[in-house]
Amino acid sequence: MADNTSTALPPRQGHLSPDDLVISAMEFFNVPCSQWTDDQRLALTEYHETVPQIVRELNEDVDRCLSRVGLEPLVKLFDRIFFRGQLFDVRCMGATPEDLHDCYGCTETREGQVYIYINSQHGQEDGDSSAAISVISTVLHECVHAYFTKAACKGSEDTDSCECKQAWREDIGKGGHGESWQRLAAVVERKACEVLGMQVRLGREKAVQAHYDTTGDEFGREVIKFCFGEKAKLAVDDSSGTVEIVYSE
Ligand SMILES: [Zn+2]
Ligand SMILES: [Zn+2]
Repeated sequence: MADNTSTALPPRQGHLSPDDLVISAMEFFNVPCSQWTDDQRLALTEYHETVPQIVRELNEDVDRCLSRVGLEPLVKLFDRIFFRGQLFDVRCMGATPEDLHDCYGCTETREGQVYIYINSQHGQEDGDSSAAISVISTVLHECVHAYFTKAACKGSEDTDSCECKQAWREDIGKGGHGESWQRLAAVVERKACEVLGMQVRLGREKAVQAHYDTTGDEFGREVIKFCFGEKAKLAVDDSSGTVEIVYSE
């Protein structure tokens, strides 16, 4: 396969932190589509060929589509387009709302294998976008989690082996939606809207609230600006414990 390797990510061997990955991802996402690798372009073509059928099936019945076709082919295409082959062996399957505690999706590691679970009742109460767009958005949201899980070092209990645990905690945080997740999700969402021909939303505002709920941490101005634009600010309401992105005129 002819491939330009200048944007390829080295296989995980050292101790890349989530922040290291974001820095390298910025370079990767700055490459204009005209300079994409052959495989990236091929994967995007395959995406546009296969996705109309998936969209139809999802809009008809998410549960049936998940159990019949599954969304692993979609993850594999997103991997080749956006995640530089790091998610090649990630599994993806449907799960019940009960299993997922009513979340749209979840990423889990069991015995070294990374699984993405997608809610089988997905998006059916979501008024403003089709079930298909909602599911595809969730798949991308979970792919960002899976990417950090696969490509960054989480450190180990045995502090002699490496000290990455601290970096992981600072960059990603307990619930998984820390600064590095936010930054990468923002660039993935922008690029995805540009190339997929579909307005995907990665639930980044909700993730800001989720991060606050699990860690009590607010994001700094720089992060908010980068992820939500120049006019965005974080409004914190201590009494109700809510944080909200607000946009000034
Ligand atoms: Zn490490
Ligand atoms: Zn998440």
